[in-house]
Amino acid sequence: VRPAIESAAEEILGLYFPVLDHGFVSLVDVMGDDAAVEQAARVSYGSGTRKVSETRDLLRYLMRHQHTTPLEMVELKFHCAMPMFIARQWIRHRTASVNEYSGRYSVVPAVFYTPEAEQFRSQSKTNKQGRGEQLDPGLHHEAVMRWQFQRDEASAIYDWLLAEDVARELARIDLPLSTYTQWYWKIDLHNLLHFLKLRVDGHAQWEFQQYGQVMAAMVARIVPLVYEAWIDYEVCGTRLSLQERMILDRMINAQGNARSMISVSDGKRDVIADMNGNKVIDIRSREVEEFIAKLNVPERPVFSIDPATSMTAGQVREKWEDK
Ligand SMILES: Cc1cc2nc3c(=O)[nH]c(=O)nc-3n(C[C@H](O)[C@H](O)[C@H](O)COP(=O)(O)OP(=O)(O)OC[C@H]3O[C@@H](n4cnc5c(N)ncnc54)[C@H](O)[C@@H]3O)c2cc1C
Repeated sequence: VRPAIESAAEEILGLYFPVLDHGFVSLVDVMGDDAAVEQAARVSYGSGTRKVSETRDLLRYLMRHQHTTPLEMVELKFHCAMPMFIARQWIRHRTASVNEYSGRYSVVPAVFYTPEAEQFRSQSKTNKQGRGEQLDPGLHHEAVMRWQFQRDEASAIYDWLLAEDVARELARIDLPLSTYTQWYWKIDLHNLLHFLKLRVDGHAQWEFQQYGQVMAAMVARIVPLVYEAWIDYEVCGTRLSLQERMILDRMINAQGNARSMISVSDGKRDVIADMNGNKVIDIRSREVEEFIAKLNVPERPVFSIDPATSMTAGQVREKWEDK
C-alpha cells in the first residue's frame, strides 16, 4: 500500500458499487489527497502562510477563488459500466482519458438497462429534457414486456450474425441504446468536480445522477476537505449576474423581496424603475424567476456509499454472465 493513499480511499479501492440494475462504479486507483492539493498550493503561497492558515481554510480559499490547478494534482481512475445512452452523455466530458470495451474485438454481453416502475415517468411539462409524473404501473409492465421482446430479437439477430461469422463490428450495429458498455476512465480532481457538478445536478438525466452520486461519495472519502468546499461553493453556491446583484442591492436597501422590486412587466420583460420612472434594471421575466429560485437556500446534499453493499470484480462478472 502506497503511503499517498489515505485509509479512507483504501477502504473502497477495487470495490464495485452497483448503479442502476447492472451498472457499477469502481475506484481502480487514486493518487493524492487533501494534503497533495495543499502541498501544490503552498508552492504559490509560500511557506510563510502555513502558520496562519489551516488546511481547510486554504482549500476553501482555492475553491472560492477558482484557483484550480492544485486540484489537478489528484488523479482518480475508475472502472464503470453504464447503458450506452449514458455513455454517450458521459463521453462529452473531454478532459478524461477513456478506454472503452471494444464491440469490434469482443462479443457484447446481452446486458440491458430496464427502468424501475418508480422512474417510469411522463414527459415533463416544464423541462423539455426531463421527466414528470410517475406513470401507471400497468403501463410500466407493458413497456417492460415490449422492451424484452425487442431485446430478445436484437440479441437473436446478433447471435445469428456471429454464428454466420459476420464481423463483430457489423453484428453489433442494431443493439439497443439500453445495452451496457464499460470503460476505464481517468481524470484529475479539478475536472472530476466539474463533471460531478453537472451530473449530480437535478437537470442531468436521473440515471446519470445515480453515477454522479456514487462518485461524489467516493470523492467525499478521498478528499473530505476539498469535497466540503466543493459542496458549499459549487454545488450549493450560485452565480449572480449584474442585474441580479442590482435587484439584490435594492432588496437589501428597501428590505423588500425580489417580486416586489419588479415594477413594470409586459409578460416577457420585467423593468425595474426608480421613483421617477427611469428604467434601472432590464431583465427577462424568466431570469427573474430563476433569480428568485436562486435565493431559496438549497438543502445540503449527502452523498454516501456503504462498502457493505459493494461487490467484488468476480461477483460482477458472474452477475453479467448470468444474464
Ligand atoms: C443538463 C445537460 C444537458 C445537456 N444537453 C445537451 C444537448 O442537448 N446536446 C449536446 O450536444 N450536449 C448537451 N450537454 C452536454 C454539454 O453541452 C457539455 O458538452 C458537457 O456537459 C461537457 O461539459 P464541458 O464541455 O464543460 O466538460 P469537459 O469536456 O469535461 O470540459 C471541461 C472544461 O474544459 C474546457 N474545455 C474542454 N474542451 C474544450 C475546448 N475544445 N474548447 C474550449 N474549452 C474546452 C471547458 O472550460 C470545459 O468546461 C448537456 C449537458 C448537461 C449537463
